[in-house]
Amino acid sequence: QRLQLKRPDLLRQACLLGDGWREALDGATIDVTDPYTGEVLARVPQLGAADAEAAIEAAARAMTAWAAQPAKARAKVLRRWADLMMEHQDDLGRILTCEQGKPLAEAKGEIAYAASFIEWFGEEAKRVDGEILQSPVSGQRLLTLRQPIGVSVAITPWNFPAAMITRKAGPALAAGCPMIVKPAELTPLTALALGALAIEAGVPHGVLQVITGRSSEIGPVLTGSDTVRKLSFTGSTETGRKLMEQCSSTIKKLSLELGGNAPLIVFEDADIDKAVAGIVASKFRNAGQTCVCANRVYVHDSIYDAVTERLLAEVAKFRVGDGLAEGTTHGPLINEGAVAKVEQHIADAVERGAKVLTGGKRVSGTCFEPTVLAEVDERMLCAREETFGPLAPLFRFTDEADVVRQANDTVFGLASYIFTEDRNRLWRVSEALEYGMVGINTGLISNEVAPFGGVKQSGLGREGSRHGIEEYLEIKYLCLQD
Ligand code: ADP
Repeated sequence: QRLQLKRPDLLRQACLLGDGWREALDGATIDVTDPYTGEVLARVPQLGAADAEAAIEAAARAMTAWAAQPAKARAKVLRRWADLMMEHQDDLGRILTCEQGKPLAEAKGEIAYAASFIEWFGEEAKRVDGEILQSPVSGQRLLTLRQPIGVSVAITPWNFPAAMITRKAGPALAAGCPMIVKPAELTPLTALALGALAIEAGVPHGVLQVITGRSSEIGPVLTGSDTVRKLSFTGSTETGRKLMEQCSSTIKKLSLELGGNAPLIVFEDADIDKAVAGIVASKFRNAGQTCVCANRVYVHDSIYDAVTERLLAEVAKFRVGDGLAEGTTHGPLINEGAVAKVEQHIADAVERGAKVLTGGKRVSGTCFEPTVLAEVDERMLCAREETFGPLAPLFRFTDEADVVRQANDTVFGLASYIFTEDRNRLWRVSEALEYGMVGINTGLISNEVAPFGGVKQSGLGREGSRHGIEEYLEIKYLCLQD
């Protein structure tokens, strides 16, 4: 019922492997549940190690012809894929909401965001140029080629079931690399629907494959293969570390988009309306389940009460519940584990002296009240770990240098946000923050033209932007002697 689609064939319960749609050899499946109702939506194959091997072989076979196509031809296919995603935005959004929980409008927004990567990188394909260098020696011509790195693998998380795939598959396919996608066990349906549309758009079989199954079985095959030359992973730092280790035996090129612990700093000279809008957008999007969500909100002492009051007024307008229902602003959390983490962070903070200004408990199922905590400090768990839920902890500060020190006092370095109307401070603080990204007077920074990525233990490499395609290219140097 909830999965009623205009194109029912977009709901796939088989994997895109080799030259068609495949079940597991032994018929094993994984249940996909709706986090709002708790009901099983569909069953997808639980593929094993042999299937992963088959996918690698198919990708290697498909590589030569795909890479040999003119960039313009690959771009055309990618453009069609992006167009098909937008044509079926309603269905894809519905599938996404059903398996992930985010409100339908936000899910459809993610589909548009996801399609933008395919469109952008299709265009970038045409700009993968080489260069001719000035030789220091007479009689030599020095050239560089930029060539596809080879078979690539994407391992993706559940919080953006569409965009985290296209942000990887877009540049991979554009560069001429086949890609094997292993979506999160919790949200494989969006991935499979994207796969169906890719085939419809003209992506040859083997160039994009979507395989579902237990990561413990499939993961080591993908990471251990010498044929696979590139792994792009988005997920937790802990898993990223493990994958990096697993890839060391074959020295694979890695892109890692890992955890964050984003600070959001509201200086005394901030525009309070912009700051509150920024906190709402950055903290509560996807019910707090993004790696760029503000995790620590530092507010200057002189405006702490004013910001708090306005933030509470905004949070009071939220409606938490069924992502498919009209007017829902925030859906359920992904599972019980996610609820437990938010509860743990709240309990720890309260025990150490923080105050719950609003929220603090579960609504029903895994729906959790948007929560604002005041008088949070550095000792608390929510200051050190990523909550990944709808919890805004408000810290009080008085000094710029000290708040920058606190903001940087973490092993993570993905996104950060500052709110200030002072242009000198804006530059000074942006330069001092040890983060891959700084949002200035905004809580929303992601788009296809921007280089998304982190420093420190938040990861390696950049996705999106013209830099994103570099992750799938190798430079070859040619030296010609007369
Ligand atoms: P979360 O986003 O829930 O914290 P993880 O970072 O553990 O999850 O997982 C993100 C993705 O990584 C998922 O697709 C998951 O299946 C996959 N994954 C987890 N552990 C491994 C592993 N050891 N090998 C390969 N993939 C893994």
